[in-house]
Amino acid sequence: MNKILIANRGEIAVRIIRACKEMNIKTVAVYSEADKDALHTHLADEAVCIGPANSKQSYLNVKNIIEAASLTKSDSIHPGFGFLSENAKFAKICEESQIKFIGPKSDVIDLLGNKSNSKKLMQKEGIPVIPGSNGSVKDLKEAMLVAEKIGYPVLLKAAAGGGGKGIRIANDFNELELNYNLVKQEAKNAFNDDEIYIEKYIKNPRHVEIQILADEHGNVVHLGERDCSIQRNHQKMLEETPSTIVDEKLRNKMGNVAVKVAKAAGYTNCGTVEFLVDADRNFYFMEMNTRIQVEHPITEMRTGIDLVKEQIRIAAGEELKYKQKEIIFKGHALECRINAEIPSKNFMPCPGKVTEFNLPGGNGIRIDTAIYSGYTIPSNYDSMIAKIITHGVNRNEAISKMKRALEELVIEGIETNRDFLFDIIRNPNFIRGNFDTSFIEKEMLGEK
Ligand code: ADP
Ligand code: ADP
Ligand code: MG
Repeated sequence: MNKILIANRGEIAVRIIRACKEMNIKTVAVYSEADKDALHTHLADEAVCIGPANSKQSYLNVKNIIEAASLTKSDSIHPGFGFLSENAKFAKICEESQIKFIGPKSDVIDLLGNKSNSKKLMQKEGIPVIPGSNGSVKDLKEAMLVAEKIGYPVLLKAAAGGGGKGIRIANDFNELELNYNLVKQEAKNAFNDDEIYIEKYIKNPRHVEIQILADEHGNVVHLGERDCSIQRNHQKMLEETPSTIVDEKLRNKMGNVAVKVAKAAGYTNCGTVEFLVDADRNFYFMEMNTRIQVEHPITEMRTGIDLVKEQIRIAAGEELKYKQKEIIFKGHALECRINAEIPSKNFMPCPGKVTEFNLPGGNGIRIDTAIYSGYTIPSNYDSMIAKIITHGVNRNEAISKMKRALEELVIEGIETNRDFLFDIIRNPNFIRGNFDTSFIEKEMLGEK
């Protein structure tokens, strides 16, 4: 691989450019008119403007991105996360244009992108899945029959969903009727696909996911778990590894199942198998994300493996250089997502000019960001502006380092969720490891 075009922006684009530089691979940034002063635009060897601020016309503009790749003679495209990363059509166009898409094959993305189809496949393979409809439901009547069979409460979920969107609970038939139509509408608007499926609502679960790497020669390994139970509106806010509820035995068991999932799907490159774990530590397959994940750095801190470099090596056809038993887990890692938002105003996004920006540092602290002093955060994109990752010998040390890092962090000119994150990591139940996916709503916001 000689030249990679990065079809993304923000901290993940910067993260990928850095890996390329270390591997002596040339980089091409694409940017919207709102991003001409963005860090990724400046850091790459070349940069091509692909359209106006609106992401539909720029970061989601397949035609312009492919044109930018051919103009700059890029031999591959890294899609990052969000935007086109899980778009099977885009991956297919790359394949047809002889541009290597750094991710799995387009038909695999297609298969796993429909969450109800992928559950159906995994169930056939003997993987434990959350009880629910067998595939998608065709109408309200079928939804009702399924809900009665598995028992309320149930979740209505968009088959094409992602980013926590298109998920609603129904406690009884009335709510089912109401939310069936709402989820259908949301799914149509957000994903242009109104297929929905039903799942038993698992009470007080933990979200535990397994990172896998699969090369193009049939080798698959897992890199352990990440606990992403600290969520708001089904969106992750803080992640850690190891999970306080996963011991070595459970890690091996979930890891083996995740490898089986990847093999069943014909998966290649890096991916994440998401599970819900119930109060009795039964775990169920939820979905597979076919891309690099926001929270990938905590796995890198604990294994010493650079996931983005592995993605590039795998896409170049190399074989994985290690076997499962050679992967060593060390210490404990935490990640906090810093968002430009106002928690007291229902987490309303708060873009604007960052007048002062000073980063924490020191042993065991990693910052992934694309912000700098004087930068103006555009209002067109996601509100996540930085990730603080800490690594300690154990959980207590990782938490202490996070406290110190959040205290040292200076961001002026805009509001962020920094203080909210600080309150999470000093919450006694969080410190005890006593939490589930309802932690933020219940413990932090006093809802439910
Ligand atoms: P992760 O599993 O990596 O934590 P998130 O769910 O936080 O991923 O999503 C990563 C980014 O991609 C977020 O900015 C999110 O809004 C966006 N995203 C994820 N899935 C989709 C989707 N299907 N459609 C639109 N945006 C998405
Ligand atoms: P997305 O594609 O948006 O990431 P997921 O299917 O991964 O959606 O679910 C996102 C989150 O919603 C999970 O991490 C979990 O907190 C919650 N969730 C999803 N399915 C269930 C379920 N059946 N029971 C309880 N919570 C669920
Ligand atoms: Mg998910």
